[in-house]
Amino acid sequence: MIVNEAAETPVDNLLLTNAAHADVLAGGCACCDGREAFVALLRTICGMRDAQGAGAFDQIVLETSGLADPGAIATAISGDQMLARRLIVEDVIVLVDACHGAAQLSDEALCRAQIEAADRIIITKSDEPSARDTDRLIQTLKLLNPSANIEGAEKGVPVKLPAHDDATPYPLSGSGIETVPIKPHRLDISGGGGWASFSVWLSAVLTARGNDIVRVKGVVGSPDGRLLLQSVRNVVQPPEILPEPDDTGNGFLAPAEGVIVLIGRHIDEPTLERSWQKFVMGTGS
Ligand SMILES: [Zn+2]
Repeated sequence: MIVNEAAETPVDNLLLTNAAHADVLAGGCACCDGREAFVALLRTICGMRDAQGAGAFDQIVLETSGLADPGAIATAISGDQMLARRLIVEDVIVLVDACHGAAQLSDEALCRAQIEAADRIIITKSDEPSARDTDRLIQTLKLLNPSANIEGAEKGVPVKLPAHDDATPYPLSGSGIETVPIKPHRLDISGGGGWASFSVWLSAVLTARGNDIVRVKGVVGSPDGRLLLQSVRNVVQPPEILPEPDDTGNGFLAPAEGVIVLIGRHIDEPTLERSWQKFVMGTGS
C-alpha cells in the first residue's frame, strides 16, 4: 500500500492499520510534482521484493492525493522500463462524496477526468443528501462513464444505493471543459491477425485520436496465449498473458476473446469498424 499526500505532513497513513505494509509518499502528487519520487519508490519496492526472493506481488494499492490524474499515473508506470515489465494498472477506483460530488463534476475538469478513467466508482456519504439528489448524482456519473461499476460504501462497508433510473442527471457545463460524455464502443477484431496487427492499428488510432479515447480494454489471442489489453488515456500497457480459464480454478472471469471495448467521445462506431476492416485488408492478414 502506498499513500500519497500532496502535503508535506502525512495523516492518512495513521488511519491504515490493516494494510500488510504501508509506504507514505508525502510532499508531492504522484501524477506530477511527486512523480519521480513515486517511480523511485515503486522501483525500491520491486527491488526489495526481488532481494527477498519473494516473487511477484499480488497487488499494490496506491491511494493517490485527491488531485491526481489516473492517466498520468499510468503513464508514469508504463514510461519506466523496469516498472512496465513488473506492474499493470488493474483497477482505477474513484471515490465520490455524495454531498459535494455534483458541484465538483459541474465545474472541475480534473474531477471529470478522474471519473472517466475509473473502473469502479464508489459513492460515500450517500445517505446525507436526499435520495433524489443521490439518484441524480448516480445518473450524472453513469452519463460520464457508462462502463464503470457504481457502488456505495460507508467507512469501508458496502451500502445499498438508491436505484431510480429516471432521475435527471445534473447539467454538465463548465467553461473549457469537454461536455460530450464518453461512451463504450465494441469492436470485433477476432478475424484480424491477433495482437501484432491490432497493436499497430491501435497505436495509429491513439496517435490520431488519443484525446478522445479514454480507455481501451479487451482480450486478444496470440501464439503465447490470451493477452489482456488495458489502456488509460493514450497509454497502452504492455499486454499481460492471462491464465487459461480452466487452469486457475478460482472462477477467473475474462472478457470474450477478440472483442475490444474502446471508451471515449466523438467516436463513430461504423467509422471505427471501417478503419479496422480497411487496416486488416490493407495488411493482407
Ligand atoms: Zn498530480
